[in-house]
Amino acid sequence: MASIAVVGTAAQSVIVVGGGPMGLASAWALAKRGASVTVVERFEVVNALSSHGGFTRVIRQAYHEGSDYVPLIQESETEWLALGRRAKQTLLVQTGLLEFGAPEHPELIDAISVCERMQLDYEVTDAATTRRRWPFTMPDDWISCFTPSGGYLRVRQCMEAFRSEAERCGVSVLEGVAVQRVAQTGKRVGVVLDDGRQLWADRIVVTAGPWLPSLLPPRLRQGLVRLRRVLAWSKPQGGRDEALRRLPVWAAFLPHGFFYGFPLSDEGVTGVKLACHTNFLAEEAGVLSQPVDPDRVDRDAGAKELASLAEILAAHLPAAVGPWAHHTVCMYTSTPSWDFLIDRLPDDPRVVIAGGFSGHGFKFAPAVGRLVAELVLGEGGPRADFSFARHLRDAGG
Ligand SMILES: Cc1cc2nc3c(=O)[nH]c(=O)nc-3n(C[C@H](O)[C@H](O)[C@H](O)COP(=O)(O)OP(=O)(O)OC[C@H]3O[C@@H](n4cnc5c(N)ncnc54)[C@H](O)[C@@H]3O)c2cc1C
Repeated sequence: MASIAVVGTAAQSVIVVGGGPMGLASAWALAKRGASVTVVERFEVVNALSSHGGFTRVIRQAYHEGSDYVPLIQESETEWLALGRRAKQTLLVQTGLLEFGAPEHPELIDAISVCERMQLDYEVTDAATTRRRWPFTMPDDWISCFTPSGGYLRVRQCMEAFRSEAERCGVSVLEGVAVQRVAQTGKRVGVVLDDGRQLWADRIVVTAGPWLPSLLPPRLRQGLVRLRRVLAWSKPQGGRDEALRRLPVWAAFLPHGFFYGFPLSDEGVTGVKLACHTNFLAEEAGVLSQPVDPDRVDRDAGAKELASLAEILAAHLPAAVGPWAHHTVCMYTSTPSWDFLIDRLPDDPRVVIAGGFSGHGFKFAPAVGRLVAELVLGEGGPRADFSFARHLRDAGG
């Protein structure tokens, strides 16, 4: 596993392109370390057009993607809770996380083995036990893994907490203006804004979510694919609202993909939020794997997409079935391995990029902010060893 090399001297001024969760977390981490930081955000800091739309994000430690992620999630969880205490706001709602599927499902096996290896608090139960506790339905021979640490993050509250801590450390946030391109001279790096202004600094951080590729040199764009995903909120009609409000966050490892949902809540929309992370059938049909352009993506959920989510509810949480209260479209920016991309630009180490969060980055924002700040400021010190930079090097860096 490659580690991120740390070289260079402390930077004085930093421009962060993109005021999403990663940009704000990076700005805050940099300012805490003494940098003078300006964030440039094309829309408003919290917006529905980039990758953090949809009001809530799952946080889970039973990370079937790999146990290497777990220390970063734990670091982030500690930070989310501390941020929430200071902001006097609940940022992380610890509902617990229930994952279920056939006992031979490889990703469910991976989730359970990560719990074991990382000594997480977890419980594996049979279908009958799960059904007694919650209104989920599943075949008799399926199993569930419950981790009490799981839950969801409240996107707006999280980002406002980052912003106010960052501003308290002196960070300036410019909203409603887009960076057209990153400009490099021998001495300084800067950004050209779409209103014609130029801003210059010692270092640039690019955390532009689905727009990251357009700010990268062409040869580094290739592995980053923007994928469209639908989020939908059902308005349950079955009269079981109380039981649905007590649900954990849940995920179904189905033979054809990974689907997940939330308890009934009033987070942005009153309803049971549901989404699809992967759906191999749709990918085979060329639907979910179709690259999109964030400026042209179809932001309406299609009838087929909603029907496939309705099927999941009917099969596994019938008490939540009802008309859609709301639906929206959001974009992943995925790397070939679905690992993150946090690195310096090979041709200009004054520019650090953090992107390719592949549909699972939000929960990591506090740790990503720290990693970015350390990369920018060239700080040493102990940190987890990660291979997240691999993709950029593979792309020719
Ligand atoms: C449907 C969906 C579900 C998800 N579920 C989860 C989940 O349950 N758990 C989890 O941990 N993660 C989840 N994620 C992933 C998570 O939301 C993203 O990893 C995270 O939002 C990435 O943050 P970011 O700051 O890199 O990008 P964004 O959130 O996209 O923010 C980037 C910001 O940069 C701005 N910007 C872009 N270009 C420019 C420019 N040229 N100039 C100025 N500003 C610019 C944008 O306007 C935007 O505000 C999900 C993502 C999606 C799409």
